[in-house]
Amino acid sequence: MRILVTNDDGILAPGLEALVRGLSSIADITVVAPEMQKSAVGHGITLHKPLRLDRVDFPGAVEAYSSNGTPADCVILGSLSNLPKPDFVASGINGGANLGEEVLYSGTVSAAMEAALHDLPSVALSVCSYTDVMYEAAEKIAPVIVQALMEHPLPAGSFLNVNTPNLPIAEIEGVSLTRLGRRRYSEILSKREDPSGRPYYWISGAPEESDSADGTDINAIQHNRISVTPIHFDLTSENGWGGFDNLMENLEL
Ligand code: MN
Repeated sequence: MRILVTNDDGILAPGLEALVRGLSSIADITVVAPEMQKSAVGHGITLHKPLRLDRVDFPGAVEAYSSNGTPADCVILGSLSNLPKPDFVASGINGGANLGEEVLYSGTVSAAMEAALHDLPSVALSVCSYTDVMYEAAEKIAPVIVQALMEHPLPAGSFLNVNTPNLPIAEIEGVSLTRLGRRRYSEILSKREDPSGRPYYWISGAPEESDSADGTDINAIQHNRISVTPIHFDLTSENGWGGFDNLMENLEL
């Protein structure tokens, strides 16, 4: 088996090394990862400038490249260029949670989604902390998840989003199959002044869990459990829209 490993924290991120370490026992690893930090670039792809693949040494990988592209670009480069075609794509291990609506912004998750759009089985792995990140649990679970997904494939267009609590393995309470919760961010925009007195803005903010009900990814993490969420790219609302008849009454075509 050949696994393409990518991330959004960049080729030098410790989580990428941990993921390669975790998966190199079960597969030949090709790394294609962004040359620098690309967190929160979402599912962006690069259409208006050339993409490069620069070969780098990477412990545990058969071959490895850093790229000037986004995480989704890295999946395209890793699966459609003249590199050997992967059987599986693993993205991470991200330093920082990807829970609730964070999956929409996440480069880590978008890389796994890009793979799913190319009918490649995939997983995104994240640890729920930005500081003193403990990658061990995600590193350990990664090969087991890959094997389970190969034996029990998800429906087309789907992948798994896995988040681990930032704890030593011994303190993790278990694993839950979850749905996305909701993390609303407060104080998302800060306004400051640069040294010449011109204002600038910085997007940041802290999440306030607004749906952490039983069964959500957020709830699992709150209970020191690993969260496994199957994700599909289809964002269609299952609730439909009650205003459609009214629209049709008023619309003259
Ligand atoms: Mn990241």
